[in-house]
Amino acid sequence: MTETRDTVILGSGCAGLTAAIYTARAGLNPLVVEGHEPGGQLSITTLVENFPGWPEGIQGPELIENMKKQAARFGASYQLAHLNTVDLKVHPYRLHTSAGEIHTRTLIIASGASARWLGLPSEQALIGHGVSSCATCDGFFFRGKPIAVVGGGDSAMEEALFLTRFATKVTLLHRREAFRASKIMLERAIAHPNIELRTNTIVDEVLGVEDREVKGLRLRDVKSGTTSILEIDGLFLGIGHEPNAKMFKGQIDLDDDGYILTKDNVFTTHEALVVPGVYACGDVQDRRYRQAITAAGTGCMAALEAEKYLEEHGR
Ligand code: NAP
Repeated sequence: MTETRDTVILGSGCAGLTAAIYTARAGLNPLVVEGHEPGGQLSITTLVENFPGWPEGIQGPELIENMKKQAARFGASYQLAHLNTVDLKVHPYRLHTSAGEIHTRTLIIASGASARWLGLPSEQALIGHGVSSCATCDGFFFRGKPIAVVGGGDSAMEEALFLTRFATKVTLLHRREAFRASKIMLERAIAHPNIELRTNTIVDEVLGVEDREVKGLRLRDVKSGTTSILEIDGLFLGIGHEPNAKMFKGQIDLDDDGYILTKDNVFTTHEALVVPGVYACGDVQDRRYRQAITAAGTGCMAALEAEKYLEEHGR
């Protein structure tokens, strides 16, 4: 017989691990299903300077590791598994994962969001051969080489700045004139001698598919329509993220972009009615703030609601 858990947390980023700390301290022995990107986005970032309590900043992976240990100390356990399907029509809820079936009375969805791609066939063909969405993972491979970063938000600025440690030159390509990035990040990128910003520019094709390595980009100026070739060895995408909520479609209300719609911060709904005992927190339900600290905040709220639900409905 499959054991029924009190609380299962999907995702081990900042939201999921904060929920794990709180539910573990409440004695609920949460199981954290780590998913395909363990540690979430913080685990692939560098210095986090805006998480309160770290005056000099802290490396993202270290912050995540600390949270993981903190939750484990109170009884949280971890499983590396991929969620295939979920059944929220029966209670206890059923999760069908790559590691087997799990039954749970409450579910905290903290599955985050994954990197977005341009969707060009040439880009897809060259992922892992010079095309990457993770500067901290792959930047090292481009020591002494020219590279390009696509995007106009903080992620793109952060990636471009980080990549100057390795690359001879970083060309930052943005499809509009105005940037979405915060002033401080944009100013740092503009001030860097090895970063060149090119606005109103899109990538039409990544060159090098036949050679199985990135050789350059065919770019298009969206205002003039003229095309040009940029010779680079690496292309990094910093164009935002897609919420990991597809597996809940039809059982939980999602918005037009696939983010989980929450009511009163963390309550999930189906056809506008609350799904009892199922909460969503972090980037899978937050398209506005998307910060480590806000993810932690909603992770805490989801945990407190799960605890309350179990108190009222029994364990
Ligand atoms: P974002 O703010 O949504 O920016 C995405 C950027 O990619 C936008 O400039 C967008 O262009 C561009 N883009 C999207 N799809 C594109 C496509 N198909 N082709 C070309 N360009 C495309 O995402 P983000 O930069 O990942 O930031 C997300 C959140 O995390 C923000 O709140 C940010 O402040 C935060 N963040 C903070 C830090 C930090 O403080 N250290 C670091 C990273 C992220 P348009 O502007 O034209 O839409």
